Amino acid sequence: MSFQLNPLPYAYDALEPFIDTLTMQIHHDKHHAAYVTNLNAALDKHPELAGKPLEALLVDLNAIPEDVRMAVRNHGGGTWNHEMFWQVMAPNAGGEPKDSLEKAIVSSFGTFSSFKSEFEKVAISRFGSGWAWLVKKGSGLAIVSTANQDNPITNGLNPILGLDVWEHAYYLKYQNRRAEYVSNWWNVVNWAEVTRRYSEK
Ligand code: MN
Repeated sequence: MSFQLNPLPYAYDALEPFIDTLTMQIHHDKHHAAYVTNLNAALDKHPELAGKPLEALLVDLNAIPEDVRMAVRNHGGGTWNHEMFWQVMAPNAGGEPKDSLEKAIVSSFGTFSSFKSEFEKVAISRFGSGWAWLVKKGSGLAIVSTANQDNPITNGLNPILGLDVWEHAYYLKYQNRRAEYVSNWWNVVNWAEVTRRYSEK
């Protein structure tokens, strides 16, 4: 069975004005779609990999046959990362996390505000293309970034929130102003979904 491109869980214009409609259309229908297509093309060469969950592939890339390892790393990561990205955003979202996740953030970062500052710093300073992540690490939380479409799963971490800082995620609206994109992005973070992921894993 091959991987599918799931539709966005909301309309293309749902995250306006923070993320514009055209960016969402191209990002989902072209970029995300291409990762899924290229992942499936790589897996087609190795029927023994068919049916494995994507996490199982990403958690141990060394176990992937060498001829498709880089394709699975890039396009498998791209598939997983974007699937998460759409889900951890929502219209009429933003605000602050509650309950268990709020406690965990305060415990790991002091305050929600200091968590945001550190996350923004990591997102803005990722050189070139990549992602910023909030991950579960041991009994606490940590902020990390990865290059390209690499996923923290490969480093033994458990991501619960990811921010795409590839230029394709923001350039049409924000051009070179990544910091403004990152700062506006908080308005669409779906903390209910992030809390669900935090509690689940
Ligand atoms: Mn992207």
